[in-house]
Amino acid sequence: MVVDPMNRPLGALRISVTDRCNYRCTYCMPREAFGADHPFLPKDQVLTFEEIERLARVFVGLGVRKIRLTGGEPLLRRELPDLIRELAAIPGLEDLAMTTNGALLAGMADSLRKAGLKRLTMSLDTLDPERFRKLCDTPVPLAQVLSGLEAALAAGFPPPKLNCVMQRGVNEDEVEALAAYARERGHALRFIEFMDVGTTNGWNLDAVVPSAELRARVHARWPLEPVGEPLAGRVAERWRYVDGRGEVGFISSVTAPFCGGCDRARLSAEGRLYTCLFAAEGLDLRGFLRAGHSDGEVAAVLTALWGRREDRYSELRTQATPRLPRVEMSRMGG
Ligand code: SAM
Ligand code: SF4
Ligand code: SF4
Repeated sequence: MVVDPMNRPLGALRISVTDRCNYRCTYCMPREAFGADHPFLPKDQVLTFEEIERLARVFVGLGVRKIRLTGGEPLLRRELPDLIRELAAIPGLEDLAMTTNGALLAGMADSLRKAGLKRLTMSLDTLDPERFRKLCDTPVPLAQVLSGLEAALAAGFPPPKLNCVMQRGVNEDEVEALAAYARERGHALRFIEFMDVGTTNGWNLDAVVPSAELRARVHARWPLEPVGEPLAGRVAERWRYVDGRGEVGFISSVTAPFCGGCDRARLSAEGRLYTCLFAAEGLDLRGFLRAGHSDGEVAAVLTALWGRREDRYSELRTQATPRLPRVEMSRMGG
């Protein structure tokens, strides 16, 4: 097991398979910054499936047990089930999941499941079609996204978790409606505090709806009780409905940071390795692979990198830190 100086193991890897997306969510890829002239990665700078699989094997050899595919929008990467099939066959890997906006899920759920994907998380910030169009800034209709959820269940996936980014004055009036939707269908809903990721989303503290406030609102309608003790590496505080209708989680990066248990590395679509979501610099693993280095050499570089990891951005956040340089989430992998 590889541990950092704060005794945090390297346990989970998020792999961004593309920096592109078919949405322009205002909190992630605002169109002013990600317009028609945005320099997305050219194909030869994106990791091939062979390179991703090779790196994933090295990571599993160092103790990684969970891999999550993300992006950008992972379902935009052509032939994604081929990559999933390769990753699912890595001995020692216990969990293989994906986060998606769901737009293309209806047509792909079956092939993803057959390829060996175990779990899905889907983003859902609103149940209002017009608000969805504005907030996610996409021509994809909300109904198409919701039918993706149906397709996931029909394909045999466990009910996907739903990620919801709440923003003050944007969608906070939908807390109960989203909770009801998830409860009725057996999805664990996770409210995520609006974060200062990247430098283009105009983040400010006033737009953050603290998890404690959200939890109080859900609890007032459907009483909640905590689910056990938090596990190492788990970012969501989990609560269960006392009436037995499932769970709801809160990811409180801003008001209750969880850096002490953070065991995640992030591999960007261009093959850079980041040890924190708020990092400005990443290690160029693509260059390293393409220069002909062996798996053993890659493992040694990663071990050394994790061995000097001191990231704890969220615990150190102030009003000034959002002005520090950092990589966009869509590029690094959310
Ligand atoms: N495109 C996929 C999706 O939206 O599910 C996967 C990538 S996306 C970057 C991963 C997650 O990050 C999504 O659930 C999204 O809501 C969340 N996210 C993006 N920007 C965020 C922000 N500023 N604060 C909190 N969560 C954010
Ligand atoms: Fe795309 Fe996901 Fe970012 Fe929205 S949150 S812009 S769907 S990558
Ligand atoms: Fe992990 Fe960085 Fe987030 Fe802290 S701020 S939990 S170190 S990714």
